[in-house]
Amino acid sequence: MNVNNGNNGDHGNGTYEGASSMRGLALAMSISLAGCWVPLASHAVNFVDATNDQAKTATIEVVPVRGGITVLMGSGANVTVLNSPHEKLIVDAGISYSKANMLRALNSISSAPPRYLINTDFHWDHTDGDEWMRLMGASIIAHENTLNRLSVETRVDDWDFTFPTAPYDARPTFLVRFDKSMHFHGTTVEFKYYGPAHTDTDIWVYFVEPDVLATGDTFCNGSYPFIDNHNGGSIDGMIRAAQANVAKASEHTVVVPGHGPVGGRPDLIEFRDMLIAVREKVAALKSGGMSRAQVIAAAPTEGFDAKWGGSVIDGPFFTGLVFDGLK
Ligand SMILES: [Zn+2]
Repeated sequence: MNVNNGNNGDHGNGTYEGASSMRGLALAMSISLAGCWVPLASHAVNFVDATNDQAKTATIEVVPVRGGITVLMGSGANVTVLNSPHEKLIVDAGISYSKANMLRALNSISSAPPRYLINTDFHWDHTDGDEWMRLMGASIIAHENTLNRLSVETRVDDWDFTFPTAPYDARPTFLVRFDKSMHFHGTTVEFKYYGPAHTDTDIWVYFVEPDVLATGDTFCNGSYPFIDNHNGGSIDGMIRAAQANVAKASEHTVVVPGHGPVGGRPDLIEFRDMLIAVREKVAALKSGGMSRAQVIAAAPTEGFDAKWGGSVIDGPFFTGLVFDGLK
Protein backbone atom coordinates (compact mmCIF):
# COMPACT_ATOMS: atom_id res chain seq x y z
CA MET A 1 0.00 0.00 0.00
CA ASN A 2 1.33 3.42 -0.82
CA VAL A 3 0.42 6.76 0.61
CA ASN A 4 1.70 9.31 -1.85
CA ASN A 5 2.44 12.87 -1.08
CA GLY A 6 0.57 15.51 -2.92
CA ASN A 7 2.27 18.27 -4.78
CA ASN A 8 2.71 20.69 -1.97
CA GLY A 9 5.29 19.55 0.48
CA ASP A 10 3.16 17.47 2.80
CA HIS A 11 4.78 16.27 5.96
CA GLY A 12 5.55 12.64 6.35
CA ASN A 13 7.09 10.00 4.20
CA GLY A 14 5.99 9.32 0.71
CA THR A 15 5.38 5.65 1.27
CA TYR A 16 4.14 3.87 4.31
CA GLU A 17 4.28 0.15 4.53
CA GLY A 18 2.71 -1.66 7.40
CA ALA A 19 3.26 1.23 9.82
CA SER A 20 1.88 1.23 12.34
CA SER A 21 -25.38 27.27 21.79
CA MET A 22 -27.04 26.14 21.69
CA ARG A 23 -24.83 27.30 24.54
CA GLY A 24 -25.78 24.84 27.21
CA LEU A 25 -28.63 23.75 25.03
CA ALA A 26 -31.24 23.85 27.73
CA LEU A 27 -33.90 23.74 25.08
CA ALA A 28 -35.54 21.55 22.59
CA MET A 29 -32.76 19.77 20.84
CA SER A 30 -31.81 17.11 18.44
CA ILE A 31 -29.00 14.69 18.20
CA SER A 32 -27.43 12.70 15.49
CA LEU A 33 -29.24 9.44 15.02
CA ALA A 34 -29.04 7.18 12.02
CA GLY A 35 -27.09 9.88 10.25
CA CYS A 36 -29.79 12.49 10.65
CA TRP A 37 -30.26 15.16 13.24
CA VAL A 38 -33.54 14.19 14.84
CA PRO A 39 -35.54 16.03 17.50
CA LEU A 40 -34.98 15.09 21.12
CA ALA A 41 -37.32 15.92 23.98
CA SER A 42 -36.80 19.28 25.58
CA HIS A 43 -34.35 18.79 28.43
CA ALA A 44 -31.68 20.74 30.16
CA VAL A 45 -28.68 18.76 29.02
CA ASN A 46 -25.52 19.51 27.12
CA PHE A 47 -25.60 18.66 23.41
CA VAL A 48 -22.43 16.59 23.49
CA ASP A 49 -23.54 14.66 26.58
CA ALA A 50 -26.93 13.99 25.01
CA THR A 51 -25.36 12.80 21.77
CA ASN A 52 -23.07 10.49 23.72
CA ASP A 53 -26.03 9.09 25.64
CA GLN A 54 -27.86 8.40 22.41
CA ALA A 55 -24.78 6.72 20.94
CA LYS A 56 -24.78 4.15 23.75
CA THR A 57 -27.88 2.51 22.32
CA ALA A 58 -27.96 3.79 18.75
CA THR A 59 -28.75 1.28 16.05
CA ILE A 60 -26.19 1.35 13.27
CA GLU A 61 -27.76 1.35 9.84
CA VAL A 62 -25.71 -0.44 7.18
CA VAL A 63 -26.08 1.12 3.71
CA PRO A 64 -24.27 -0.58 0.80
CA VAL A 65 -23.07 1.93 -1.80
CA ARG A 66 -20.89 0.44 -4.55
CA GLY A 67 -17.34 -0.67 -5.32
CA GLY A 68 -16.93 -2.39 -1.95
CA ILE A 69 -18.06 0.74 -0.10
CA THR A 70 -20.64 0.73 2.68
CA VAL A 71 -21.90 3.61 4.84
CA LEU A 72 -22.69 3.10 8.52
CA MET A 73 -25.11 5.60 10.00
CA GLY A 74 -26.13 6.11 13.60
CA SER A 75 -23.10 7.00 15.73
CA GLY A 76 -22.10 10.62 15.26
CA ALA A 77 -20.94 11.35 11.75
CA ASN A 78 -21.49 8.95 8.86
CA VAL A 79 -18.84 6.24 8.68
CA THR A 80 -17.72 5.13 5.21
CA VAL A 81 -16.11 1.70 4.89
CA LEU A 82 -14.03 0.37 1.98
CA ASN A 83 -13.75 -3.38 2.37
CA SER A 84 -11.09 -5.76 1.06
CA PRO A 85 -10.50 -9.46 1.69
CA HIS A 86 -8.16 -8.93 4.64
CA GLU A 87 -8.53 -5.36 5.88
CA LYS A 88 -10.75 -2.31 5.84
CA LEU A 89 -10.24 1.39 5.17
CA ILE A 90 -12.68 3.44 7.24
CA VAL A 91 -13.61 7.12 6.99
CA ASP A 92 -14.49 8.54 10.42
CA ALA A 93 -14.86 6.56 13.59
CA GLY A 94 -18.13 7.63 15.17
CA ILE A 95 -18.60 7.86 18.92
CA SER A 96 -16.83 5.32 21.12
CA TYR A 97 -19.93 4.52 23.18
CA SER A 98 -21.21 2.79 20.03
CA LYS A 99 -18.19 0.50 19.81
CA ALA A 100 -20.12 -2.75 20.28
CA ASN A 101 -22.80 -1.87 17.76
CA MET A 102 -20.24 -0.42 15.37
CA LEU A 103 -18.21 -3.62 15.54
CA ARG A 104 -21.29 -5.67 14.81
CA ALA A 105 -22.01 -3.47 11.79
CA LEU A 106 -18.40 -3.70 10.56
CA ASN A 107 -18.43 -7.48 10.99
CA SER A 108 -21.66 -7.70 9.04
CA ILE A 109 -19.64 -6.45 6.05
CA SER A 110 -16.74 -8.85 6.67
CA SER A 111 -14.45 -9.99 9.47
CA ALA A 112 -11.53 -7.97 8.03
CA PRO A 113 -10.11 -5.61 10.69
CA PRO A 114 -9.65 -1.85 10.24
CA ARG A 115 -6.26 -1.07 8.65
CA TYR A 116 -6.64 2.64 7.88
CA LEU A 117 -8.88 5.19 9.54
CA ILE A 118 -9.32 8.67 8.11
CA ASN A 119 -10.71 11.58 10.14
CA THR A 120 -12.47 14.16 7.94
CA ASP A 121 -12.36 16.68 10.79
CA PHE A 122 -11.28 16.79 14.43
CA HIS A 123 -14.73 16.89 16.08
CA TRP A 124 -15.53 14.09 18.46
CA ASP A 125 -18.39 12.72 16.36
CA HIS A 126 -15.68 11.79 13.82
CA THR A 127 -12.72 11.00 16.10
CA ASP A 128 -14.07 9.65 19.37
CA GLY A 129 -13.72 6.06 18.12
CA ASP A 130 -10.10 6.59 17.02
CA GLU A 131 -8.64 4.95 20.10
CA TRP A 132 -10.39 1.60 19.82
CA MET A 133 -9.86 1.41 16.07
CA ARG A 134 -6.19 2.24 16.59
CA LEU A 135 -5.95 -0.56 19.15
CA MET A 136 -7.42 -2.92 16.55
CA GLY A 137 -4.52 -2.02 14.28
CA ALA A 138 -5.73 0.94 12.25
CA SER A 139 -3.29 3.67 11.27
CA ILE A 140 -4.95 7.07 11.43
CA ILE A 141 -4.80 9.58 8.57
CA ALA A 142 -5.94 13.19 9.04
CA HIS A 143 -5.11 16.78 8.27
CA GLU A 144 -2.19 18.08 10.31
CA ASN A 145 -4.50 20.55 12.05
CA THR A 146 -6.55 17.60 13.33
CA LEU A 147 -3.44 16.27 15.04
CA ASN A 148 -2.73 19.71 16.44
CA ARG A 149 -6.24 20.12 17.81
CA LEU A 150 -6.43 16.59 19.24
CA SER A 151 -3.10 17.15 20.97
CA VAL A 152 -4.51 19.82 23.26
CA GLU A 153 -7.71 20.46 25.16
CA THR A 154 -10.22 21.96 22.73
CA ARG A 155 -13.13 24.22 23.45
CA VAL A 156 -16.19 24.25 21.16
CA ASP A 157 -18.05 27.28 22.46
CA ASP A 158 -21.23 26.73 20.50
CA TRP A 159 -21.60 23.29 22.11
CA ASP A 160 -20.56 24.64 25.51
CA PHE A 161 -18.13 21.76 25.77
CA THR A 162 -14.41 21.30 26.36
CA PHE A 163 -12.89 18.16 24.87
CA PRO A 164 -9.89 16.62 26.64
CA THR A 165 -6.57 15.95 24.94
CA ALA A 166 -6.76 12.76 22.88
CA PRO A 167 -4.71 9.81 24.16
CA TYR A 168 -1.29 9.84 22.52
CA ASP A 169 -1.79 6.47 20.87
CA ALA A 170 -5.11 7.54 19.39
CA ARG A 171 -3.73 10.47 17.44
CA PRO A 172 -3.25 10.56 13.64
CA THR A 173 0.18 9.53 12.40
CA PHE A 174 -0.19 10.01 8.64
CA LEU A 175 -0.74 13.69 8.04
CA VAL A 176 -2.30 15.49 5.09
CA ARG A 177 -1.38 19.11 4.46
CA PHE A 178 -2.80 19.72 0.99
CA ASP A 179 -3.52 16.45 -0.79
CA LYS A 180 -2.41 12.85 -0.88
CA SER A 181 -3.44 9.61 -2.48
CA MET A 182 -3.03 5.95 -1.74
CA HIS A 183 -3.94 2.62 -3.25
CA PHE A 184 -5.98 0.21 -1.24
CA HIS A 185 -6.51 -3.19 -2.81
CA GLY A 186 -7.28 -1.88 -6.28
CA THR A 187 -9.01 1.33 -5.26
CA THR A 188 -7.33 4.73 -5.52
CA VAL A 189 -8.16 6.87 -2.48
CA GLU A 190 -7.54 10.63 -2.59
CA PHE A 191 -7.45 13.04 0.34
CA LYS A 192 -7.74 16.77 -0.16
CA TYR A 193 -7.69 19.64 2.30
CA TYR A 194 -10.55 22.11 1.81
CA GLY A 195 -8.84 24.96 3.57
CA PRO A 196 -10.74 26.51 6.47
CA ALA A 197 -14.43 25.59 6.04
CA HIS A 198 -16.52 23.87 8.74
CA THR A 199 -13.32 23.88 10.86
CA ASP A 200 -9.68 24.24 9.82
CA THR A 201 -9.26 20.45 9.71
CA ASP A 202 -11.63 19.36 6.91
CA ILE A 203 -10.54 16.91 4.22
CA TRP A 204 -12.49 15.00 1.63
CA VAL A 205 -11.95 11.35 0.80
CA TYR A 206 -12.56 10.47 -2.84
CA PHE A 207 -12.67 6.87 -4.03
CA VAL A 208 -11.64 7.21 -7.65
CA GLU A 209 -12.76 4.01 -9.42
CA PRO A 210 -16.16 3.65 -7.71
CA ASP A 211 -16.57 7.47 -7.92
CA VAL A 212 -17.68 7.98 -4.33
CA LEU A 213 -16.96 11.27 -2.54
CA ALA A 214 -17.04 11.48 1.27
CA THR A 215 -17.26 15.17 2.12
CA GLY A 216 -17.19 15.13 5.89
CA ASP A 217 -19.08 18.01 7.45
CA THR A 218 -18.59 20.37 4.53
CA PHE A 219 -21.93 18.91 3.40
CA CYS A 220 -24.95 17.90 5.48
CA ASN A 221 -27.69 16.39 3.38
CA GLY A 222 -30.98 17.92 4.51
CA SER A 223 -29.86 19.95 7.52
CA TYR A 224 -28.05 23.19 8.20
CA PRO A 225 -24.38 22.52 8.90
CA PHE A 226 -22.58 23.31 12.10
CA ILE A 227 -19.85 25.89 11.52
CA ASP A 228 -17.11 25.97 14.15
CA ASN A 229 -16.15 29.62 14.03
CA HIS A 230 -13.85 29.22 17.03
CA ASN A 231 -11.81 26.45 15.41
CA GLY A 232 -11.16 27.86 11.96
CA GLY A 233 -14.59 27.61 10.35
CA SER A 234 -16.69 30.34 8.72
CA ILE A 235 -19.62 30.69 6.33
CA ASP A 236 -17.33 31.89 3.55
CA GLY A 237 -15.08 28.87 4.04
CA MET A 238 -18.14 26.62 3.96
CA ILE A 239 -19.24 28.17 0.67
CA ARG A 240 -15.77 27.64 -0.82
CA ALA A 241 -15.88 24.01 0.27
CA ALA A 242 -19.39 23.59 -1.12
CA GLN A 243 -18.17 24.99 -4.44
CA ALA A 244 -15.26 22.54 -4.42
CA ASN A 245 -17.65 19.64 -3.79
CA VAL A 246 -19.88 20.67 -6.69
CA ALA A 247 -16.83 21.01 -8.95
CA LYS A 248 -15.55 17.60 -7.93
CA ALA A 249 -18.77 15.63 -8.35
CA SER A 250 -20.26 14.50 -11.65
CA GLU A 251 -23.77 13.24 -12.23
CA HIS A 252 -22.40 9.76 -11.63
CA THR A 253 -20.75 10.51 -8.28
CA VAL A 254 -22.22 9.10 -5.10
CA VAL A 255 -21.80 11.64 -2.30
CA VAL A 256 -21.54 10.61 1.35
CA PRO A 257 -22.26 13.64 3.55
CA GLY A 258 -21.00 14.15 7.09
CA HIS A 259 -24.58 13.82 8.26
CA GLY A 260 -27.76 12.79 6.49
CA PRO A 261 -28.51 10.31 3.75
CA VAL A 262 -26.23 9.42 0.86
CA GLY A 263 -26.85 11.77 -2.08
CA GLY A 264 -25.49 13.12 -5.31
CA ARG A 265 -24.46 16.23 -7.18
CA PRO A 266 -27.94 17.83 -7.19
CA ASP A 267 -27.94 17.70 -3.38
CA LEU A 268 -24.54 19.40 -3.29
CA ILE A 269 -25.83 22.16 -5.56
CA GLU A 270 -28.94 22.75 -3.47
CA PHE A 271 -26.84 22.90 -0.29
CA ARG A 272 -24.36 25.34 -1.82
CA ASP A 273 -27.13 27.58 -3.10
CA MET A 274 -28.77 27.62 0.34
CA LEU A 275 -25.48 28.62 1.98
CA ILE A 276 -24.96 31.46 -0.50
CA ALA A 277 -28.51 32.75 -0.15
CA VAL A 278 -28.48 32.73 3.65
CA ARG A 279 -25.05 34.34 3.71
CA GLU A 280 -26.23 37.17 1.47
CA LYS A 281 -29.31 37.85 3.60
CA VAL A 282 -27.41 37.81 6.90
CA ALA A 283 -24.57 39.92 5.50
CA ALA A 284 -26.99 42.57 4.24
CA LEU A 285 -28.67 42.83 7.65
CA LYS A 286 -25.38 42.88 9.53
CA SER A 287 -23.82 45.53 7.31
CA GLY A 288 -27.00 47.56 7.73
CA GLY A 289 -26.13 47.87 11.40
CA MET A 290 -28.29 45.21 13.01
CA SER A 291 -27.05 43.40 16.10
CA ARG A 292 -26.78 39.63 16.25
CA ALA A 293 -30.09 39.39 18.12
CA GLN A 294 -31.79 41.70 15.62
CA VAL A 295 -30.56 39.68 12.67
CA ILE A 296 -31.81 36.46 14.24
CA ALA A 297 -35.17 38.11 14.99
CA ALA A 298 -35.44 39.12 11.32
CA ALA A 299 -35.52 35.40 10.42
CA PRO A 300 -33.36 35.53 7.31
CA THR A 301 -33.54 31.74 6.90
CA GLU A 302 -37.32 31.67 6.82
CA GLY A 303 -37.66 30.34 3.29
CA PHE A 304 -35.15 27.55 3.97
CA ASP A 305 -36.17 26.28 7.38
CA ALA A 306 -38.73 23.76 6.13
CA LYS A 307 -36.05 21.93 4.19
CA TRP A 308 -32.93 22.53 6.31
CA GLY A 309 -34.01 23.64 9.78
CA GLY A 310 -35.51 20.50 11.29
CA SER A 311 -32.46 19.66 13.38
CA VAL A 312 -30.75 21.01 16.46
CA ILE A 313 -29.25 23.54 14.09
CA ASP A 314 -32.48 25.35 13.40
CA GLY A 315 -32.88 28.66 11.57
CA PRO A 316 -32.01 30.95 14.49
CA PHE A 317 -28.98 28.89 15.52
CA PHE A 318 -27.68 28.73 11.96
CA THR A 319 -28.25 32.45 11.51
CA GLY A 320 -26.07 33.08 14.56
CA LEU A 321 -23.32 30.85 13.17
CA VAL A 322 -23.38 32.70 9.84
CA PHE A 323 -23.43 36.09 11.58
CA ASP A 324 -20.49 35.23 13.83
CA GLY A 325 -18.36 34.08 10.90
CA LEU A 326 -18.87 37.15 8.71
CA LYS A 327 -15.92 39.46 8.72
ZN1 LIG B 1 -17.33 18.44 12.51
